Amino acid sequence: MDAKPDLRSLNLTELKNVIAGLGEKSFRAVQVYEWLHKRQAESFDEMTNLPVRLREILGQEYELYNLREIKALEDPEDGTFKYLFAVNDGNVIESVFMSYEHGYSVCISSQVGCSMGCRFCASTIGGKVRDLTAGEMLEQVYLMQKLQGKRVSNVVVMGSGEPFDNYDNFVRFYEMITDKDGLNISGRNITVSTCGITDKIREIADKQYALTLAVSLHAPDDELRKEIMPSARKYSIGEIMSACDYFFEKTGRRITFEYSLMAGINDSEECARKLGELLKGRNCHVNLIPVNPVKERNFVRSGTVDITRFKKLLEKSKINVTIRRGLGINIDAACGQLRRSYIKETGGDKGAGLCEN
Ligand code: SAH
Repeated sequence: MDAKPDLRSLNLTELKNVIAGLGEKSFRAVQVYEWLHKRQAESFDEMTNLPVRLREILGQEYELYNLREIKALEDPEDGTFKYLFAVNDGNVIESVFMSYEHGYSVCISSQVGCSMGCRFCASTIGGKVRDLTAGEMLEQVYLMQKLQGKRVSNVVVMGSGEPFDNYDNFVRFYEMITDKDGLNISGRNITVSTCGITDKIREIADKQYALTLAVSLHAPDDELRKEIMPSARKYSIGEIMSACDYFFEKTGRRITFEYSLMAGINDSEECARKLGELLKGRNCHVNLIPVNPVKERNFVRSGTVDITRFKKLLEKSKINVTIRRGLGINIDAACGQLRRSYIKETGGDKGAGLCEN
């Protein structure tokens, strides 16, 4: 498929080069950038302050990857919205809009599907279909702002996909969303979650961005981790910890470790003690996530007593712990569940009729 390049994924410098290459003045690039990133134009025809000839050439050579809303579900208890969006080629992705006391936060996807294979996660059933472009990641934020009529202050890249398996597009996304000519969201309000791809943790550390790094641990030792996360066969906990230490050294930013609690699997006292040992003395934060049961999988959420015991044991090791508020629990809000339900209902992603696998 030789798709045309996605214009919304170009930064202002690149856009200026494109516009100069077409023999147009530099201020035209600023106008186009505003149409793409401030006004979120859906077509070149909308860009009425540009010469018709320029609009035509851009339309011939570039694509605007627009997202289209397919479905919106609201959790009546906490006001979380879960969206199913279609991208241009007919694939569907999900994104979540959440309200907190301190503002509005969105959770976006970085890939269509995922190839990491975590056993408790719905996004990975059927594997990875493709990477999302930086423009498609940005558009999830733009479109939710538009649909909600609210300004987003925090973005977490914790939806479907492994952002560090789509590293270049993620970096581009980060630089554009924090850009003063774009939404200008502060880097510290952007969180990226990885299953522990150590070379990319080190690469992003070297960039010394202000972003928050979250690492999905889910087990205190390699043996158990390999059982629930296939990526653990490639990246050991030892290597992950040393990459995380490097990140902290380079950025001074505290790392969040995510730990999804699954009854009878990783919620024992022994697991809590081992995790305490592992993280003791590290400047970090543990986010305990009671697992969201996925229909296709057998994992069961740990009971309240076990969750509290786990938390207390970690606190004994002087580790900062929170239990994640189960936002959107009533609306299939765990990674990839809404998309799975949709694919099942329709027999495939809509539009191009793509099927997974
Ligand atoms: N690939 C990245 C980001 C996507 S998932 C990563 O692995 O971090 C975001 C977080 O939700 C990860 O910690 C992931 O392990 C967790 N997660 C996925 N499915 C879940 C489920 N059913 N219940 C609880 N947490 C889940």
